[in-house]
Amino acid sequence: MNDTLTLSSILLEPTGAVWMYSMLLVMIAMTMLVSIRLLFTRRKIGYFSMIVALALLLVQYVLLIARAWTPELTEDEIFAALLLKAFAFVMLNVGIFQLYNPTRKRDITLFLLFVIATAAVASTYWLAPEWLQSGDIHIHLLRPLGLELYMFILIFLSFIIVNPRIGQNGKYQTMLTVSFIQQTLHMANLYIFNDSQPVLQLLERMAPFALHMVLFLFIFERVIEIMQAIYTSSITDSLTKLYNRKYFDNRLRSALQQRHPVSVLFSDIDNFKKLNDTKGHHMGDQVLRQAAQIIMEETGEAGTCGRYGGEEMVVLVTDPDVLPEELAERIRARIEQETIVTVSMGYSVFKKGIHAEELIQQADEAMYKAKTSGKNKVIGWS
Ligand code: GH3
Ligand code: MG
Ligand code: MG
Repeated sequence: MNDTLTLSSILLEPTGAVWMYSMLLVMIAMTMLVSIRLLFTRRKIGYFSMIVALALLLVQYVLLIARAWTPELTEDEIFAALLLKAFAFVMLNVGIFQLYNPTRKRDITLFLLFVIATAAVASTYWLAPEWLQSGDIHIHLLRPLGLELYMFILIFLSFIIVNPRIGQNGKYQTMLTVSFIQQTLHMANLYIFNDSQPVLQLLERMAPFALHMVLFLFIFERVIEIMQAIYTSSITDSLTKLYNRKYFDNRLRSALQQRHPVSVLFSDIDNFKKLNDTKGHHMGDQVLRQAAQIIMEETGEAGTCGRYGGEEMVVLVTDPDVLPEELAERIRARIEQETIVTVSMGYSVFKKGIHAEELIQQADEAMYKAKTSGKNKVIGWS
């Protein structure tokens, strides 16, 4: 054994390999914990494949650790390791696909086809022709060739099947590219250099690190994205995409607490019941969305928009340079021009010591005045 600690001595000797694979084990276990958490919080069976895939990877690395001490493997063990590698790869990609897509029947059929294909390719390991089996020293290289080449097909298929369905995802592409490089190194090592090039061996051992690093970042980022989506949906209204009443009230309250000179606009669509009755609820919903869109566009960065009730929408104007009557008038005019309805609007301005409920009630009262004095107009509270 070598006493000087070089990178290659660390990585290529049994203890080094064990150390390295153990690090990978920890990384995979962490990724698995995150996935299990996701499965429990979201209760979507889709995350199950990811967990199975990671479990297969765990087994794979435990086997590699065992192998570091006993380099001589039996045929069965080599076969099991190869099969595990292929299945883990398939499951991992299924898992990633499911992080981004709902599972359909079609996908299950495709998955089953992959299982059958993998089994079929695996059988080539045992079906080498008679003449090859009789004493040929290269038989140990020929047998795994089918499964090793199959890995390239799997990587290629992931590029064309999974990649376009998970959005522009640099991390996934990096992961597949690293898989490709790893497999190429492995094949070159095995079939061209007879496993005698330390540099290639080293690179082959390092590749899984890069791969699992990217994988971990990938899953982690997706989990954060999903958590964010859960939060966003808890504070917004799904129909109009405006903030919901609870969130709007909180924003108003904290603005008043900090004594910001805010104002509140209150709008109510005119004769909306009639529109629903004559043109249907679906049309009603569409108009509601249109009006909400106009309110959001006109408010822009000047404040926060919310859906207060059925067809009542509100704006908290926080920009002191924006005059509430002007903003309200712009909204009213655009809704009149661009949709088949009109709105009545009221507004009220911050005064020292006023409470959130009062400010909204005043804007509501002003809106009511607009209703009773002919609709489709803006009136300020006085
Ligand atoms: P007014 O001009 O006095 O406001 O008359 P209006 O018919 O608009 O009266 P009101 O504001 O009381 O009507 C509210 C109606 O809005 C009742 C309900 O049918 C409709 N509505 C509330 N929420 C929704 C929704 O999410 N979608 C649709 N399509 N209609 C809704
Ligand atoms: Mg109403
Ligand atoms: Mg109305």
